[in-house]
Amino acid sequence: MKTKVAATERKARARKIIARLKREYPDATCALHHRSALELVVATILSAQCTDARVNMVTPHLFAKYRTAADYAAADPRVLEKEIQSTGFFRNKTKSIIGMAQALVERHGGEVPQTMEELTALPGVGRKTANVILGTWFRKNEGVVVDTHVHRLSRLLGLTRQDDPVKIEQDLMEIVPRDDWTWFSHTLIQHGRAVCIARRPRCADCVLNRLSTSTPSSVSRRRAQRASSPTVCAA
Ligand code: SF4
Repeated sequence: MKTKVAATERKARARKIIARLKREYPDATCALHHRSALELVVATILSAQCTDARVNMVTPHLFAKYRTAADYAAADPRVLEKEIQSTGFFRNKTKSIIGMAQALVERHGGEVPQTMEELTALPGVGRKTANVILGTWFRKNEGVVVDTHVHRLSRLLGLTRQDDPVKIEQDLMEIVPRDDWTWFSHTLIQHGRAVCIARRPRCADCVLNRLSTSTPSSVSRRRAQRASSPTVCAA
């Protein structure tokens, strides 16, 4: 019963937050440049522990050189490592990209599959990456992308008390309308980068700040960020 009430409260809170964010970010979308599902898979693998801006600097050369899954599958790992070095963790990412491409060639005729099960069976593709591909390219809302910004903001906004990304995703899927899942994650990512920046949030410029009067002091903000049920934002 208690859980039900909590979910109802979180749902009501989510509704208010979504209404404000929709006005501010009506067209939020993935910041990784891509023109195909394959390019998006590669860019998403590269984006682990790396900024999207850095990935977008590396991918034009990559996408011009490797045009199909077969091209990546046949890539020389030492060459590919150098080409993606600046995105960090380049040895693991090279393994993931080549392994993923080989699996596409062997199991899917070189095409990117469209189901969660098939995507997460590919090397280097976890649920987060699969959610990005399904939601952004195939327009299928199968889940909510929980990256570092979505993780931080969902807790800060009182939408979840969980700390594990899988459980956070479950909480968000419960309270955010399914049609909004992909948009919502892109929006929190955008908001986390531009306004609610970790350690220096721009509360005075934030649409989720209380409609009321004051911007929270840095002390109360820090307290709220530490608390499991913060009350600072989106009254
Ligand atoms: S009011 Fe401040 S802490 Fe809350 S979401 Fe906005 S920027 Fe972040």
